[in-house]
Amino acid sequence: MSQREHRIFNPAMECISRDELHKIQGERLAATVKREYENVPVYRERMDAAGVKPEDIRSLEDLKYLPFMEKTDLRDYYPFGLLASPKKDIVRIHGSSGTTGKPIVSGYTRNDVDVWSEMMARTLTAAGATSEDIVQVTYGLGLFTGGFGAYQGADKLGAMVIPMSSGNTQRQIMMMKDLGATILCCTPSYASYLGETVREMGIDPKKDLKLKAGCFGAEPWTEEMRQRIEQLLEIDACDIYGLTEIAGPGVAFECLEKNGMHINEDHVIAEIIDPTTGEQLPYGRHGELVFTTITKTGMPMMRYRTHDICTLTADKCACGRTLARMGRIVGRTDDMLVIRGVNVFPSQIESVLVGADGVAPHYMLIVDRVNSSDTLEVQVEMTEDMFGDTVSHIENVRKYITAQIKSVVGIASKVSLVAPKSIPRSEGKAKRVIDKRNLH
Ligand code: ADP
Ligand code: ZN
Repeated sequence: MSQREHRIFNPAMECISRDELHKIQGERLAATVKREYENVPVYRERMDAAGVKPEDIRSLEDLKYLPFMEKTDLRDYYPFGLLASPKKDIVRIHGSSGTTGKPIVSGYTRNDVDVWSEMMARTLTAAGATSEDIVQVTYGLGLFTGGFGAYQGADKLGAMVIPMSSGNTQRQIMMMKDLGATILCCTPSYASYLGETVREMGIDPKKDLKLKAGCFGAEPWTEEMRQRIEQLLEIDACDIYGLTEIAGPGVAFECLEKNGMHINEDHVIAEIIDPTTGEQLPYGRHGELVFTTITKTGMPMMRYRTHDICTLTADKCACGRTLARMGRIVGRTDDMLVIRGVNVFPSQIESVLVGADGVAPHYMLIVDRVNSSDTLEVQVEMTEDMFGDTVSHIENVRKYITAQIKSVVGIASKVSLVAPKSIPRSEGKAKRVIDKRNLH
């Protein structure tokens, strides 16, 4: 058990008994399904096709009878086809890039913005924030949910917000230092880059900065990356999870126990399913995460398939919250690479690279097909020290990393150690994979 002091924003909900929670979830689910059936033609058609009527959904156990929604549905009914409220009640639009064609958008009513702000206020509080804190928001403020989510949560806490948005690293650090920011919100890849830059500028985080914690999410990262960020910036680094379709960041958040992300289950129901059969899987098993919103009124989502792979647990957490936790996202079913028939997640390779001496965790995976066989090249940057080292030492490190990747992932790869700073940095979500197989 940890000796930490745990702050909880809404103890009545965050520490509710599981039985009471399930009762509330069942009631909210029934009301949401009724609303969806009455107001959104697609939901009505899908439920009719599945032979399910709103009155069949009375408790949490009935969830499994409902049809799934997919990201393609958001594209097909873009922009307003899934609204369950009149357009005049929508007060905000957010969207995500989407990889092809049109972005996907979600409409928020005043209620939805309030619910989301509460989820982010819980998130920041779990990382130790109070109204006394100064929160630097380095997630982009725009259509992307990251920036607004963090801003709203900090605002609800009554903290002081610095809405920097993304970009201009030197200036971020100057503001962080001058204003004495105590909480940082950004992607983990950018946090690690900020940390490196802080060190390069000769700034000692302990003496010159006031940062104490960070809420980092929006992309997959590893335990090794957490340790690196914590060391570089001398802070607690907490994982946070969210997606535009469900709300934005804050759907789930880590407390300072850092043992998985508590899900805001009074607002969303989480399930893990087998991605091929759609069957529900028990807690503890890896599978695809599915969310059903139960308080959203603008664009509620029924059994939305996230394509993110993780596990769930409802085991007791030392912080006192009873909300179930999701484990780290190990990958997405759609960014899982299949290389020579083997499933490979970029996060597996990252865990090897972050643990290896002589390289910095800036990397790019290049997948190609040569003579009908898949190839994987792992480009990773050397540290400055390593760059000036002897050729034989560099070669030894290269061999070591190649062997580690083979043992962790199970396939051979070509590892290339590239010059420091030669892999492009990202200010938002990092791009880690170039798959050239479809270009041939
Ligand atoms: P996009 O689909 O364009 O990336 P979103 O900003 O809505 O748009 O991103 C949501 C996705 O980001 C999630 O489905 C998940 O794959 C990823 N994500 C968000 N937070 C985390 C996290 N803490 N760990 C891993 N992946 C995350
Ligand atoms: Zn906890």
